Amino acid sequence: MALIVQKYGGSSVADAESIKRVAKRIAEAKRAGNDVVVVVSAMGDTTDELIDLAQQITPIPPQREMDILLTAGERISMSLLAMAITNLGVRAKSFTGQQAGVITDAVHGKARIVDVVPTRVRETVEKGQVAIVAGFQGVTQHTNDVTTLGRGGSDTTAVALAAGLSADVCEIYTDVDGVFTADPRIVPSARKIHRVTYEEMLDLAASGAKILALRCVEYARRYAVPLHVRSSFTGRDGTWVADLPPEGEEDMEQPIIAGVAHDASEAKITVVGVPDVPGTAARIFEVVAAADVNIDMIVQNVSAAKTGLTDISFTLPSTDGAKATAALAATQEEIGFESVQYDDQIGKLALVGAGMKSHPGVSAKLFGALRDAGINIEMITTSEIRVSVVTRADQLADAVRAVHTAFGLDGDGEAVVYAGTGR
Ligand code: ASP
Ligand code: MG
Repeated sequence: MALIVQKYGGSSVADAESIKRVAKRIAEAKRAGNDVVVVVSAMGDTTDELIDLAQQITPIPPQREMDILLTAGERISMSLLAMAITNLGVRAKSFTGQQAGVITDAVHGKARIVDVVPTRVRETVEKGQVAIVAGFQGVTQHTNDVTTLGRGGSDTTAVALAAGLSADVCEIYTDVDGVFTADPRIVPSARKIHRVTYEEMLDLAASGAKILALRCVEYARRYAVPLHVRSSFTGRDGTWVADLPPEGEEDMEQPIIAGVAHDASEAKITVVGVPDVPGTAARIFEVVAAADVNIDMIVQNVSAAKTGLTDISFTLPSTDGAKATAALAATQEEIGFESVQYDDQIGKLALVGAGMKSHPGVSAKLFGALRDAGINIEMITTSEIRVSVVTRADQLADAVRAVHTAFGLDGDGEAVVYAGTGR
């Protein structure tokens, strides 16, 4: 008998029919003799709709209230799912994040899980019942305020519970058959990956692959929770995220490249005419950090010999653009740069693969593919297992397809997207 944590995303529980379909699947897993804990997201695009609603009330809603609002989405789906399972003759009980013992820090909107004390979940399972837990939410340690874990956070809830309960596997059910070599929504010839390492999945998620939340992968790696990402619409085997092959399977040789991720949600700031003396880069990024902005790629040009001035560019989430530019502008005189330029029409592409470490020529091939597609590269960064480039936003999809083809990742069939609006 195994303990399975199953997580169902919003598109898998988008309406009453879908909830009943998912309930059947859960009841089957239970009847097969497993202990089952389920984590569920809000129905369909509920979270986005609640955000839109708040925007109609006020442009900058208080974050505490925003979190209470958003957690309502998962309460709806968890209770309906528990009803549907009960209807099938399997006993089920739903729990909010707080009731399930998901304790977080107090950073509203992107709280981090600090502890999981799933006492009630464990009791429920021990009684032979299915426990349904609302994803994406927790409660602060000291003030008992409700928090959310950031968009896509139900994945993180699932992994945290799987770790807290020492589950055998954490199954992430979604609207595609697994992790693909690129987003099937823009590369229909993308192939399903059989197994990807935690390290590769971390880089894919950090580079914009939305199939799994970044923190979920961090958590899974830290606690060595094997993830099985698969479709709730078929019975097919999905993608394993694990450093070792699943039980009973031989280790196959891993491919050099795992996949191509893309991100259209970033922007670029260029600080122009920065005095090229020790300490200015530190000051600039202290200012950005103090504004609580997470940056990604950084490029500094060679300074012009005549002027002793240089330009520093970096990328950041475009949602933080206004905050970061304002913070920098306020320090213009102190730091002594000329101006700040903001550009949100950029796209980011990342090629990820652990095999890069030992295979030369990957960057050259990547740049060659972009050249042949007539795509200009604006920034480049690399790590041991990743090469990232910035392009114009309107060329990003073409860039992803060109690189995907150049690295021989195209499959024979067409990848199926079973549901979801991709919102
Ligand atoms: N409902 C939340 C969101 O849409 C959490 C999740 O789906 O994982 O971001
Ligand atoms: Mg969602």
